[in-house]
Amino acid sequence: MGDVDILVSEVGPRDGLQSIGTVMPLEAKKAWIDAEAAAGVREIEVGSFVPAKLLPQLADTTELVAHARTIPGLTVAVLVPNAKGAEAAIRAGAHKLTLPLSVSETHSLANLRRTHDQVIDEAVTIARLIQALPPAERPHFEGSLSTVFGCTLEGTIPDAQIARLAALLMDAGCDEVGLSDTTGYANPATVRRIIALVRDVVGDEALTGIHLHNTRGLGLANALAALECGLTTLDASLGGLGGCPFAPGASGNIVTEDLVFMLEAMGLRTGIDIERLLSVRKIVAAALPGEELYGFLPDAKLPLGFVHAKNLEYV
Ligand code: ZN
Repeated sequence: MGDVDILVSEVGPRDGLQSIGTVMPLEAKKAWIDAEAAAGVREIEVGSFVPAKLLPQLADTTELVAHARTIPGLTVAVLVPNAKGAEAAIRAGAHKLTLPLSVSETHSLANLRRTHDQVIDEAVTIARLIQALPPAERPHFEGSLSTVFGCTLEGTIPDAQIARLAALLMDAGCDEVGLSDTTGYANPATVRRIIALVRDVVGDEALTGIHLHNTRGLGLANALAALECGLTTLDASLGGLGGCPFAPGASGNIVTEDLVFMLEAMGLRTGIDIERLLSVRKIVAAALPGEELYGFLPDAKLPLGFVHAKNLEYV
């Protein structure tokens, strides 16, 4: 990754906004994305190609992809629930497509209205769409194992089922698989265990990222466990946006500002300027009146003498 050690992937415009009722105006979303990219964020999940009647909050994803593509050096990521969404994402010019596959079949049926076999069929179709493109135009294709740390409907999912689905995603033609703690059930020990389990199946190169929630307050502890296992991409949401209806006071996704502070304080380069990142909150707060933004660093501020990781060698 060149000048960064850890890629922080901002998912607020997708995961954050999809879980709140307010529809953020397109111009505010653009200003948010612009400001985060200017702060040094290298990858932003700008939306999801789901029908607008299901998620009106994300109805402008096509326009956002077009806008975000004009920002030099930014990887424009989107979620796609199926091959139809992937077609739209490819047409729009997204750089990275993530297809969620809930390892809990009950959750998959409730959320995507599809069985595991049906989701794998969609993955095969998406991989074929991508392969049909000229090599330079092919987006990166990730299959995300959601509810992999447990499901609110089924509880713990058997290891053998997780391993089988990881293998099927890679066989279908995904470039890599990711792990997603959709329900906030993970703890540092299960993060280590599931990473080892999935790596055994797909290899180290095909598992680099994790998507964590802070529902039970273990988000950063889980992020640290993933780092210690060698994962290099961490999803996070500005202000932990989205919240969680089941856990008042807890943010939804892990908070980008707090995560970047932890990484930079540990000497890991993210490429992100923390002061500039903190100022992005004003844009989001102004566009979402009454919506709670989370995070410790925004209140506590940087410690006296704090130095970004890239400057550490000079002090
Ligand atoms: Zn999420």
